[in-house]
Amino acid sequence: GLVKHFPITSGLLVKHTIGRVQAVDGVAFELAAGETLGLVGETGCGKSTLARCVAGLHPVTAGRVRFDGQDITNLPRRRMRAFRRDIQMIFQDPYGALNPRRRVGSIIADPLVIHRAASGPELRRTVQELMERVGLNPEHYNRFPAEFSGGQRQRIGVARALALRPRLIICDEPVSALDVSIQAQILNLLKDLQDDYGLTYLFIAHDLSVVRHISDRIAVMYLGKIVELAGADELHDAPRHPYTAALLSATAVADPDEAERRQRVILTGDVPSPIDPPSGCRFHPRCPKAREVCASAEPVLESKEHPVACHFPVSAGEDLTAGRPA
Ligand code: SF4
Ligand code: MG
Repeated sequence: GLVKHFPITSGLLVKHTIGRVQAVDGVAFELAAGETLGLVGETGCGKSTLARCVAGLHPVTAGRVRFDGQDITNLPRRRMRAFRRDIQMIFQDPYGALNPRRRVGSIIADPLVIHRAASGPELRRTVQELMERVGLNPEHYNRFPAEFSGGQRQRIGVARALALRPRLIICDEPVSALDVSIQAQILNLLKDLQDDYGLTYLFIAHDLSVVRHISDRIAVMYLGKIVELAGADELHDAPRHPYTAALLSATAVADPDEAERRQRVILTGDVPSPIDPPSGCRFHPRCPKAREVCASAEPVLESKEHPVACHFPVSAGEDLTAGRPA
């Protein structure tokens, strides 16, 4: 039931709340140990805000976050520290996330210094082992971030996230800023590390094709809500939400047979504002299947094996390109 609203204020001396950005609006999911849950949706749908709430980097407005049976919602900083070791994040921008004036060895060492008071030759050895593990030359620990390529910088981010041997790593679009060929290398690295260390991933992307191969299950988010959640292959082969079908039709397909089978669903209009989201189903102004009821009654995500929040889910083989029904 996680909710995160950001108040919009006005006024110089006395602030008045004039609105709220409903970034995350009642989201629920579970993540099993060792699993990868992909979280996809367009820019601005609330994925990063959700990730930061789970990681304890944003206080939540309502709802709970539980980790390993313990309630970690809005913990004071000191008590959150214990969970920092278990929950780490990797960020999208390998350029912005690393301080350009610091040597990479000390960047990677940060969590070890802060949480384990590590120092001296042993710290350097641990950092060099981490660098080697993520495919960096351990001799380069004295270099600055600018001396590394984009892909190498993301490896630095991965090494830093790995330093404390966390159990959950929240990956917020870790490959979105990288070339396609480099993306595959980083995804393979993350997969290897998961196998070796039994890591659990919450993996965020705006592109379904990126999360498909790394995820066990995928949740699709639209304007602050999860609208569909299913096994990665199931979601890909038999999407039930019209928005998921639209996202899928927008991804590039290498296999010509599959491209042939796949229908093109073109989304009309822009993503509406999370300040004043549409009534009823938030997707209704853009949905090819929308009917009158969609504008007034909000569909709920049912709790079954392949939950979808839609009054008229897509059925297998249905043609969504035929246009809106009258
Ligand atoms: Fe489309 Fe209606 Fe389903 Fe919303 S509830 S996705 S508008 S068919
Ligand atoms: Mg984001």
